Amino acid sequence: MSSNQSISNRDISVLWHPCTQMKDHETFPVIPIKKGQGIWLEDFDGNRYIDAISSWWVNLFGHGNPEINAALKDQLDTLEHVIFAGFTHEPAVKLAEKLVEVTPQGLNRCFYADNGSSAVEVALKMSFHYWRNLGQTQKTKFITLENSYHGETLGALAVGNVPLYKETYAPLLMDVITVPGPDCYHREPGESWTDYSTRRFMLMEQILQQHANTVCAVIIEPLVQCAGNMRMYDPVYLKLLRVACDKHNVHLIADEIAVGFGRTGTLFACEQAAISPDFMCLSKGLTGGYLPLSAVLTTDQVYRAFYADYQSLNAFLHSHSYTGNALACRAGLATLDIFQYRNIIEENRCLADSMTKAAARFSEHPHVAEVRQTGMILAIELVKNKHTREAYPWQERRGLKVYQYALSKGVLLRPLGNVIYFMPPYIVTEEELLLIAEVAWQGIQLAVKD
Ligand code: PMP
Repeated sequence: MSSNQSISNRDISVLWHPCTQMKDHETFPVIPIKKGQGIWLEDFDGNRYIDAISSWWVNLFGHGNPEINAALKDQLDTLEHVIFAGFTHEPAVKLAEKLVEVTPQGLNRCFYADNGSSAVEVALKMSFHYWRNLGQTQKTKFITLENSYHGETLGALAVGNVPLYKETYAPLLMDVITVPGPDCYHREPGESWTDYSTRRFMLMEQILQQHANTVCAVIIEPLVQCAGNMRMYDPVYLKLLRVACDKHNVHLIADEIAVGFGRTGTLFACEQAAISPDFMCLSKGLTGGYLPLSAVLTTDQVYRAFYADYQSLNAFLHSHSYTGNALACRAGLATLDIFQYRNIIEENRCLADSMTKAAARFSEHPHVAEVRQTGMILAIELVKNKHTREAYPWQERRGLKVYQYALSKGVLLRPLGNVIYFMPPYIVTEEELLLIAEVAWQGIQLAVKD
């Protein structure tokens, strides 16, 4: 019979895991998961873990969700996949219709890819190519924000700004213009999120003024820079950015890969600023956390710039073999159905309040500099010194101690450096939130010792 040990030993002899120093597994074995049910994961030794981070932010309605399972079983008996050039199928068409309907106004075209990074590549290439088709060949640059993250393929990495992922590959990456961000962790004492984000926008305005002529697009993670330690800012920044991009004739790319599908309190984060971007990248929650799929939504205006006789060579020739995979599209439809027949956005408001309450005591902790929350994302910033906000040196790996402790108590948290965060599936209960918070509290107590 398989046990945790037998599987993790086999794993270690053939596998190479993402975002992992494999040597760590000499001391902490990988955990083989046998089964997922609802918010719970179960390993081969019968231990259970609450998936408090939605398995890298993808899972919305639990593992083994009955509705998504049923849809997939039905799809499996009909069509698993077909080439998406020259051919199409109903799940892809229906999902695109739905996405056009639920995303902000004006996003009328849907281009599929198969993961978040490739959606970002698509949006960058489409924006560049749009200007080129219009004869504006001087537009070759992208503007990005400090502390942003857009994925790890070379184009996506280039427009990101988290040194841990980017620095090593710097010689391979295209040049981008990086603007100081609106991250409200850095606001002055007593300054509101709105005031700080507004003030910080001036830096973006200046850069746009100087460089707009050579810039294709600004790419941004609306409201929360998730991989950048769950740093948050006010919707006013997006409002100002939309106006400025229009004024300077530059596209706005909203990367809602992590924040889309209800995470921030609205179906899409852009809604909180009442804006429509020129491109919206979606993935992760798009299939409820079941299968890899991404979509880039864009406008008629962008689409029309590529629409011409073949000989013009204006077509967008980007392709991935699994574009528009039928199973993944069907999982996407089942996920959007759940949003439609249950009032998830309203239910999430109550859940987000419960999350606030469950984490109420953390802000008083002597090593917590800030507890911040946007909808269903709550983050706790651990620091060495609460008054000066001096960070713990990264080499001490305090977050890892919280991770290990939490696992021993049946909760999967995966801190980003010294930031502990909760980003649970939307089926989490109040009791489970209290348990997650209690375990995180105890883990922090342990991690800040000495
Ligand atoms: N953009 C954002 C905002 C993300 O959070 C991520 C993934 N964490 C990506 C892009 C990349 O997605 P993927 O991991 O599917 O390539």
